[in-house]
Amino acid sequence: MPSIRALASKQTATLQVAVKCRPLTDSEQRRSRHIIQVTDDKNVVVLDPDLSKDYLELIQNRTKERRYSFDHVYKPGCSNAVVYKNISSTIAGVVQGLNATVFAYGSTGSGKTYTMVGTHSDPGLMVLSFRTIFDLVKKDDSSDTFEVSCSYLEVYNEVIYDLLEKSSGHLELREDPEHGIMVAGLRRIKVHSADKILELLNIGNSRRKTESTEANSTSSRSHAVLEITVKRKQKGQYGSQVLRGKLALVDLAGSERASETNNYGQKLRDGANINRSLLALANCINALGKQNKKGLAYVPYRNSKLTRILKDGLSGNSQTAMVATISPADDQYHHTTNTLKYADRAKEIKTHVHKNIGTVDTHVEDYKRMIDNLQVEVSRLKKELAEKEHQLSVKPTEKAADDELSWLNILSQETGENVQERINLQKALFELEETNKRNRMELQHLDDAIARQQVKEKDTAVLQALTSRRQVILDNIRDNDEAGAGYRKDIELNESRRSQLQDMIEEATSNNGNRTYLHILSQYRLLGMTNAELQIEMAMRDQVIHNQREALRSLWSILYGTGLNQKQILKLATKQGLTIEGCPLPVSSLDVTTPPSFPPHGRLSPFMSFPSPQSQPYSPSSCFVQHGFSAMSFLRNQHETPTLCRQEHISSYYMMSDCSPYDGDGKQCTSERSMPCFSTPGKPKEMYGFSPEQKVSDPPGPCSKEHPISFWQ
Ligand code: ADP
Ligand code: MG
Repeated sequence: MPSIRALASKQTATLQVAVKCRPLTDSEQRRSRHIIQVTDDKNVVVLDPDLSKDYLELIQNRTKERRYSFDHVYKPGCSNAVVYKNISSTIAGVVQGLNATVFAYGSTGSGKTYTMVGTHSDPGLMVLSFRTIFDLVKKDDSSDTFEVSCSYLEVYNEVIYDLLEKSSGHLELREDPEHGIMVAGLRRIKVHSADKILELLNIGNSRRKTESTEANSTSSRSHAVLEITVKRKQKGQYGSQVLRGKLALVDLAGSERASETNNYGQKLRDGANINRSLLALANCINALGKQNKKGLAYVPYRNSKLTRILKDGLSGNSQTAMVATISPADDQYHHTTNTLKYADRAKEIKTHVHKNIGTVDTHVEDYKRMIDNLQVEVSRLKKELAEKEHQLSVKPTEKAADDELSWLNILSQETGENVQERINLQKALFELEETNKRNRMELQHLDDAIARQQVKEKDTAVLQALTSRRQVILDNIRDNDEAGAGYRKDIELNESRRSQLQDMIEEATSNNGNRTYLHILSQYRLLGMTNAELQIEMAMRDQVIHNQREALRSLWSILYGTGLNQKQILKLATKQGLTIEGCPLPVSSLDVTTPPSFPPHGRLSPFMSFPSPQSQPYSPSSCFVQHGFSAMSFLRNQHETPTLCRQEHISSYYMMSDCSPYDGDGKQCTSERSMPCFSTPGKPKEMYGFSPEQKVSDPPGPCSKEHPISFWQ
């Protein structure tokens, strides 16, 4: 049933910029002069590298000396732990459902990898961060449960690889409407200790593409992104609330110039691609810095994979820290001032931080429980199978039968993998199609706005911004369409493989005499399939829930777009029988005369739960038809619809409608209209504020592609 939910609170944060200068290396000490002066913990001076200036040049202020101020400036040789101290609070927020990004920016050999990864005696920011996360999880004395997982990828030559996969193929970026930019197929490993992440980090680093250049003997040729996700589940009276914090730790590749590094051939091409990403990053920093001073500017995120991955960290929902690393050597003057120039612009960048809060609806919990039970059953059968196989293998006379049985086993396992692959492909396709639907809507709005600008308002700056945005959307649509066609082809291949496997299994079982084994095997397969189907259903439910949340999001934009203030919106909604949660107005200011009423079971149904207590068992198509609605059709139809809603983030429910689905006697309400009523079980009359800047935070899908549930182990 339609309802309006108050948006989660959002705060603007400024990108924190720190400067870290490394000490002179042994060889530099012999040939270079130290030109960095850290005057205090916020200011740094880069001295003129040219000592031959005469007095006249100096007094005419023709010196190349530069001064900069930052949030923090560290003295050469300071440890990573000192740098970390100032960002530790940002990292701690991840355990509370906030996103954070930390990246080192600087030229080759300036100390980026040293800062992010570090050494045994001076652990880097990556290592210190996940230690903090596990310390906080360990110290937490609430009844919340935590799940920490991590992924590690590299962008090399504009191709994404999984560093946690032995020989990873090329991975693609996907725009997920709920979670933003995602890397399709990236492995995400659940971890239970800081040591485990360290182990994964070391394995990943050993797979990173590094080369020896003249600027650095082990120069990283790729940009590496370590992502740690912390899911915090809080049990409440009305189901579980999930906080989902994400920490992205980025070690960029060096931005050396070919002339300095004597590169040629492949290395030169790598350099060009590394620079393409870094150039794109610099351009984004530039545009974002400008945007903050001058308003709307096109930010070229799409120019590289790196900037698309870092988009959230640069302007979205993330508290971000940038460590600009510099070398103190005089021959690096140009790189140092260049790095500091971008760092200076980055100070202007603003991000918008809000908690990622979601709920795990009861029906999803039920599904999860069923899947868990099935998993237990599957592993029991697996054990039985293993025992049976063992018994068979000790009888040499049954060798031939044994071979057939293991063949069956292989087929059965392959069937499982095939099903899992289909689930993943189908879900990816769903998400892509949804994203493109939204893209097309935005395109339409943009076309209207552009037409308006061309005919009436004629503001060239706005027109330009709109046209650039239109191009971005068109690119998105094209990319997503291409990816969608690829997924469809993969699904076809997957299905033909499935029927092939089925035929092979039929053939193998008809020839085999071992009935007990086959019985167990078929039971095992059957359970596996049921399990897989439940997962498909969960994935589809996720999608439906997501669609509805998106519709609500659009509705909020429409409401704010009308220019009405909160009070007017609320009055209008009350008249139309709509629920608005988190309303800041006092109850007395509304035309509400009916005292609070409660449904007979003492608990209101979640407004977006599927299926509703009275509805038929779920079928994906019926769900889309019955429950899918667009913001506009909702606006047109809402006067006919009784409204019931739930404040998802607070354990309090509101009902303010003409009629709840239940009347006082526990029967479903069927009358057209009744008196408006309020109800907040447990917390009557308490209201929560909302504001136009606030944004809906969506719950993560319980069956998202990031966490494929493996049931064939
Ligand atoms: P980048 O990743 O920016 O290319 P590295 O982190 O690989 O640069 O550092 C280049 C060299 O400088 C390495 O040999 C590294 O050990 C050394 N180095 C960097 N920072 C420090 C530091 N704070 N203390 C000591 N050595 C450092
Ligand atoms: Mg490096």
